[in-house]
Amino acid sequence: MSTLGSLKAQVVDTAFRLADGRRMDSPPHPIDAIASYHAHVYFDPATRDQAETLRQRVAERFSVRLGRWFDTAIGPHSRPMFQIAFRKPLFPTLTPWLMLNRGDLSILVHPNSWNQRLDHMQHALWLGPPVHIYGERLSEAPLDDDEQDPNTAPGLTP
Ligand code: ZN
Repeated sequence: MSTLGSLKAQVVDTAFRLADGRRMDSPPHPIDAIASYHAHVYFDPATRDQAETLRQRVAERFSVRLGRWFDTAIGPHSRPMFQIAFRKPLFPTLTPWLMLNRGDLSILVHPNSWNQRLDHMQHALWLGPPVHIYGERLSEAPLDDDEQDPNTAPGLTP
């Protein structure tokens, strides 16, 4: 290959390189790489009441696993938060319900796949303004304790 040709190939290679080290033209990830989802609901002193209300309303309407309530930042999370762990079939109802009802809260919805860091930093979607995530604190392995057993007893239709 000519020098110009090899330089061009290098530029194209860099341009196609994704955050996860793969190339844009490599085969796409299959949908079954996703095992389950989390929604992290972030709050601060001004929005703590909204977070409590949202948690209660989710519990009344969705069969999910509500995580512990953290009033201080923990792990990769830079703000107080609680987690909603849920199974794949709930995504098309819980996600739009959170869109409509998040109020002033920021929510990170992420899949659980083969790499927790990518799940939070690359594969995620935000409802509301993004909150800083300490990506360097996240493992590049899958979630080892993917606890999805619901701990809510919903009685209301979303
Ligand atoms: Zn999570």
